[in-house]
Amino acid sequence: MIKNNIRVRFAPSPTGFLHVGGARTALFNWLFARHSGGTFILRIEDTDRERSKPEYEEAILRDMRWLGLDWDEGPEAGGEKGPYFQTQRGSLYKKELEKLIFTGNAYPCFCSQEELAADREAQIAVGKIYRYSGKCAQLTADEAEEKSRKGELSAIRLRVKEGFTTFTDIVRGQVTVNHEEIDDLILVRRDGEPTYNFVAVVDDALMEISHVIRGDDHLPNTPKQILVYNALGFKIPQFAHIPLILGPDRSPLSKRHGASSVSEFKRQGYLPETMVNYLALLGWSFDGKTEIFSQEELIQKFSLERVVKSAAAFDYEKLQWLNGHYLRAMDDEKMFQLCRDYLLENKIISQKYVQSEDIYLRRVVALVRGNLKLISQIDEQLTYFLNDVYAYDPQALIKFKTAENISVFERVIKVLNETDSLAPIPLEERFRKEAVSMERKFSELVHPMRLAITGRTNSPNLFEIMEVIGKDRCLDRLQRFLNSIQKTKG
Ligand code: GLU
Repeated sequence: MIKNNIRVRFAPSPTGFLHVGGARTALFNWLFARHSGGTFILRIEDTDRERSKPEYEEAILRDMRWLGLDWDEGPEAGGEKGPYFQTQRGSLYKKELEKLIFTGNAYPCFCSQEELAADREAQIAVGKIYRYSGKCAQLTADEAEEKSRKGELSAIRLRVKEGFTTFTDIVRGQVTVNHEEIDDLILVRRDGEPTYNFVAVVDDALMEISHVIRGDDHLPNTPKQILVYNALGFKIPQFAHIPLILGPDRSPLSKRHGASSVSEFKRQGYLPETMVNYLALLGWSFDGKTEIFSQEELIQKFSLERVVKSAAAFDYEKLQWLNGHYLRAMDDEKMFQLCRDYLLENKIISQKYVQSEDIYLRRVVALVRGNLKLISQIDEQLTYFLNDVYAYDPQALIKFKTAENISVFERVIKVLNETDSLAPIPLEERFRKEAVSMERKFSELVHPMRLAITGRTNSPNLFEIMEVIGKDRCLDRLQRFLNSIQKTKG
């Protein structure tokens, strides 16, 4: 497909796992590109060599793929504007820096950390907001050269002249900043490492990014970056700063609120369709009320104009509700596969068990799936299907492990022994009749039976469970329960 000039990028730093904030930024970029027939680029901002780790980079790629956010250019995909790792773009930054020095837009700054710190303290002491004094901006080329020759290290700063920078953010509207608030920003540090505000501009310009869509924590960087664009003579892209994601207590979402990385949500059993749908609703809305969107609908309906300014609160309950929706809508085969994979990955069952008990597992999953809001809940739902029951709900035990229930269990066991087919509907019918003949309520039979067979007070339909578990195992559990009453109460 021939792409138009719309080019957007997601530019994560591989210093941690993909946070939902980052995933939402990636998603908005991706939706914007797919909606408009543009190009979505993935660029790895790995200039922080100490904190960047290959395993984080791998995890980011893996999580993006899991979410279905495929990129047209970037790691593994390649592309004409590469390389797509900042650590491989050093020569490009050097070239642009030389241009800036040559045109006088950048200058070396020899001030030491100590000098700068002292200057900062002095300014703060008299109630000023710290700004670099601009001392080295006055050095002549000869003076600067002389210092370099003597071995003095320098950072490189952008020469910021007096004035104002104004831009129109697609989400925020018009933003104006007085240059008095902007330092002569550092482009390259004394150790030779270029800074984010410099390399991001070089990359965005050389990669011909048309729209920079990112979190609004970057809003203060934008005027600085515009100054760099201007100094380099590059075309300025459009900007859209999307609102922060807050935890339920309205502080920025972090680990202390619960899961906050995509991989953690995945591990907990959320589906990619849930995450994509939910993340799209964090800061964007179509009509203020529709909440369920398939990926195709999002692509069709997404626009930056409908991104809101105010911060979005992350609602874990709503996320679970949405996951329940997608789980219910899923066909049995896919559901089985997801549950099986979860159980295998978490070593709850073995590959051998899956092979020999394929039919049994399928029936069990089909039976309990209605109770799942998360795939990971399958573990808890399966226990009495996979293992014999020795532990019982303590409250229910007090209620049902009684001498009066001895006759109930005796009768239930007798009836079950005499029954050949465990087809659920006739089986239930049979026990209903038995209850009538015993002059008991049906529930007075079913509740103790459920406890003996599952150990619980809540389960899917007991007669369906009995059919799946099988007559022998049911009889065994009922008998053991009866024995234990007889032992203590008999
Ligand atoms: N690497 C930056 C971050 O992860 C990217 C910022 C940007 O999109 O310009 O925050």
